[in-house]
Amino acid sequence: MKIAFFGADGKVGSALVPLLERAGHEVRGIEIGEEPDVAGLDAAVDFTTPAAAPANVRAALEQGVSCVVGTTGWDPQKLGDDARERGLRLFVAPNFSLGAVLMLRFAAQAAQYFPRAEIIELHSDAKKDAPSGTARATADLIGGDTIIHSVRLPGLVAHQEVIFGGEGQLLTIRHDTTARESFAEGVILALDKLPELPPGLTVGLETLL
Ligand code: NAP
Repeated sequence: MKIAFFGADGKVGSALVPLLERAGHEVRGIEIGEEPDVAGLDAAVDFTTPAAAPANVRAALEQGVSCVVGTTGWDPQKLGDDARERGLRLFVAPNFSLGAVLMLRFAAQAAQYFPRAEIIELHSDAKKDAPSGTARATADLIGGDTIIHSVRLPGLVAHQEVIFGGEGQLLTIRHDTTARESFAEGVILALDKLPELPPGLTVGLETLL
């Protein structure tokens, strides 16, 4: 596919672009301040900031281009409605790594058997939003008043622990992202499946598995 990549020079973008190219995609990187000229491309990918992503997605949709978005900390609902009206797709995932999606699935299972859980999410100090999109998605799945603790420190990439507490026992489910290359598999899957998705907003890598 011919794709635009908003945020190609960022930490995630610079890890993913070579892998997308290796998978056969032709990638046009678009950085801050550059004209979001994406007309005629097959899709646009966004890994930027919560402030920048909505304008990038809006520009792509206005040019008739469907989007795959990894940027967290913004509400895609309204642009999802715009996409549907235009017959386009907006796919958003708070986490593109397969292990994290399995963590969510296992946490949802465990939640049926434990009365309480708390989440600790740990990310690099450069991450702008807190709590993380993955932690919010996990808390929504578990339900109740699941408390989220956010840690932002240099040296971290993306990590999450879900701790379930019951009578005389604890269950901990932990996922560690040690390199941003782990997100490539999910982004490539989303690009492959994008044309088959219903028009409008689809959220979560688990919907594609
Ligand atoms: P980052 O290193 O700060 O990279 C963001 C990049 O976007 C920077 O190169 C930045 O340029 C650029 N940018 C800012 N505004 C832009 C605009 N209007 N148009 C085009 N580019 C723009 O951040 P990151 O660690 O790569 O993360 C990016 C986003 O992805 C964050 O929201 C993060 O939470 C999210 N994320 C999601 C997943 C997932 O699996 N869904 C995984 C990891 C990260 P400047 O540096 O010049 O400002």
